[in-house]
Amino acid sequence: MATSWQATLAAGKVLVIDGGMGTELQRRGVPMDEVAWSGTAVLSHPEVVRAVHEDYILAGADVIITNTFGSTRQMLGGAGFGAQVEEVHRRAVALAKEARAATIDRVAIAGSLSPSPPGFDRHAYPPPEEELAVYRESAQLLANSGVDLIALEMLEDTTHAPLAMRAALETGLPVWLGVSSRRVDGRIVRFSESASEVLLADVLDVLVPMGPDVVTIMHSEIDAVSETLTLIRDRWDGPVGVYPESGYFTKPSWNFVDVIPPDDLAREARGWIDDGARVVGGCCGTGPEHIRALRSTMDTWNAGR
Ligand SMILES: [Zn+2]
Repeated sequence: MATSWQATLAAGKVLVIDGGMGTELQRRGVPMDEVAWSGTAVLSHPEVVRAVHEDYILAGADVIITNTFGSTRQMLGGAGFGAQVEEVHRRAVALAKEARAATIDRVAIAGSLSPSPPGFDRHAYPPPEEELAVYRESAQLLANSGVDLIALEMLEDTTHAPLAMRAALETGLPVWLGVSSRRVDGRIVRFSESASEVLLADVLDVLVPMGPDVVTIMHSEIDAVSETLTLIRDRWDGPVGVYPESGYFTKPSWNFVDVIPPDDLAREARGWIDDGARVVGGCCGTGPEHIRALRSTMDTWNAGR
């Protein structure tokens, strides 16, 4: 049922979402593309993508996110898959739906959309009109394929992120605004290493007024979450979520070094709930065991409401 995630939030309870997709595929032996990262896995390893979705649902996720982070034309095109942009989106949503049909039908499906640059190169973006068309194409394909909401991921600047947000809002679906941050020299800045001088506060000042349904801190360092929550709370009184990463990325692979143990993530998440977060999950580096731990902790918390 598409509205159950909204009913959970409206009741003041905590929603558990899934964990990392690309990194979980990598753990299961799926190679990551140098340019499109996990985007092409829905074509090359559909059964693994479906199995990861099923495992997250069975671990307790109320919302799963499609493997479309790397599926925009600007990411797939560079990997030689420009002719398959539509097929990749449709297959990705279909695999999430198949996983839901095989497990728990009240789970919601979020379509991931990211303005990550072509080849992870921030100098390689197309001109603005072309770039907006890229995000519109992905957002409409996700909507037409039947996702319940759009999860914008790694929005972290004031140039490209607003274009992706505009495209997502145009679908009329609920939009989760996912920002990424880390702490540098005592300041909360965008996550990506280049141009880290961009303050997340400035990014939020542009994106929050555009009207998301939920604001999430995703693919962010756990150490930066508390301060980022404060930045969001200063600007937004709607639902807030947290799904951080753990480990680090060296193109095209994730390094599973010092990944936070599941029980430690659940303990951290308990603190974020105290700070007002109502959506918790994991991003890169986290897996089904993290979601199982979060589910258990949040079931206890929800039972007290
Ligand atoms: Zn991530």
